[in-house]
Amino acid sequence: MQKELIENAIERAKLFGILKYLPEGQLTHAPFSLSPFSISAYDLQEMTELTAPFSELMIGISQNWEFLEHHLEPIAEIDSFLRMLLDCRTEEITQSKQLLVQRNDFFLIKNEDRKLREVSISAETTPAGSALSHVELNTVSASFPYLITQLSRLHRNLFEKDQLPEIVPNNPLGPVVDAFAQAVCDYDSPDSVMLLISQPTEGNRFDQMGLEQLLWDEHKIPTVRKTLADVFEEGSLRQGHLVLDGKTVALSYYRAGYTPDDYQTIEAVKGRQLIEASSTIQVPDLPMQLAGMKKIQQVLTRPEILSSFISAEISQRLLKTFAKMHTLDEIIETPEGEMPAAEWVSGNPENYVLKPQREGGGNNYFGREIPKTLAAIRQDEQNAYILMEKIRAQIHSAILVVNGHAETLTCVSEIGRYGICFADNGVLKSNHDVGYLVRTKAENVNEGGVCAGFACLNSLVLEVGG
Ligand code: ADP
Ligand code: MG
Repeated sequence: MQKELIENAIERAKLFGILKYLPEGQLTHAPFSLSPFSISAYDLQEMTELTAPFSELMIGISQNWEFLEHHLEPIAEIDSFLRMLLDCRTEEITQSKQLLVQRNDFFLIKNEDRKLREVSISAETTPAGSALSHVELNTVSASFPYLITQLSRLHRNLFEKDQLPEIVPNNPLGPVVDAFAQAVCDYDSPDSVMLLISQPTEGNRFDQMGLEQLLWDEHKIPTVRKTLADVFEEGSLRQGHLVLDGKTVALSYYRAGYTPDDYQTIEAVKGRQLIEASSTIQVPDLPMQLAGMKKIQQVLTRPEILSSFISAEISQRLLKTFAKMHTLDEIIETPEGEMPAAEWVSGNPENYVLKPQREGGGNNYFGREIPKTLAAIRQDEQNAYILMEKIRAQIHSAILVVNGHAETLTCVSEIGRYGICFADNGVLKSNHDVGYLVRTKAENVNEGGVCAGFACLNSLVLEVGG
């Protein structure tokens, strides 16, 4: 691809607000790809159709505190972050309205693995093997609705100039902003605002500000931006309402609060407790946040548990996309006979990812890190981790543009689908898929953070004849 095209794309990315801060504070464009990822119409449709069932599943789990407690309480005994979150629960339900803004991430697996999976799941009920392999579902801080919408604009613009193929249209931002406006309206308090709970330093703030700006432009709803500690120091409860800067907070949108780093001070913990004690609509509420934990994801790979929350037909469709997941003490079948998963993975670490109960990237262990980690933790700490089969994603060549430099690399692409679901006390009011995210990264990179500079925002194109 010519130098000129790349330089123009970089300038236009900045024009469209596809920006991020580097750790040293300089402003640059967010990493992006100039090679849209090709997907078959079949896989795209299946992925899109699964968004609403996944949201329904999360809402269903959020209503079953006993289930969450049963699986998470043993971990909370050794994981102080989870302990703190579980302890934030208030006995009294202060708000029954729920708004879930989630993103469900998938890889498309290599063809040879696709066949393997077909065989490993009951042949009668699953005639076609799925190429989709579910990575995880983000119920809290599902990021990039603004940046990816802008990237789609950029790619669309390059298509109109015959410089890229036509991409699958994408605009998750509009529906997310409309849902926030709807929630503020449902809260039904005059002059109310949205609270965006941010981290003290935020490299991805343009993604958040783009959303705040559209909420103002389209709906004239202001955003108050605070850290959890600010909420405690500046907030108060008035007749159950959370009040900040003299305004009622109708909606609290978490772009922080999902990692222990966000709760390092007692003020931050108290900020979360103040939000919980109020009647503000939380995106997500605490049970929905907990429903997105990796332990819950692992438990849901058991068909009997999954089908206790959703229909048999939907369970089958979801199960086809699940990678194998285990607890470390689980006895699993291996080519060398039955043995505890921890023992098997120590000899075969390349085929697994070890995950603690954390969100936000950079917490998982891959390959040779796994036996080292297992050797360093106590037996009773093993509960806090789950093991996931390593997904072998399809590889493709892609041009990646990172901090002003373009490079062609062998890559993998992770596709996320955004979902928005309104519910009241677990009863669904509306439930939709609203668009996608593609993150393309070099094949040999394990983690996927865009703002960390590992992964590049990308779009989809439909496979010719697919
Ligand atoms: P987080 O909540 O920290 O984002 P994820 O489970 O999404 O945790 O993992 C982070 C990244 O690690 C993913 O975006 C993906 O690139 C990679 N990853 C996670 N699980 C797997 C897996 N089973 N196989 C291959 N890569 C994975
Ligand atoms: Mg993730």
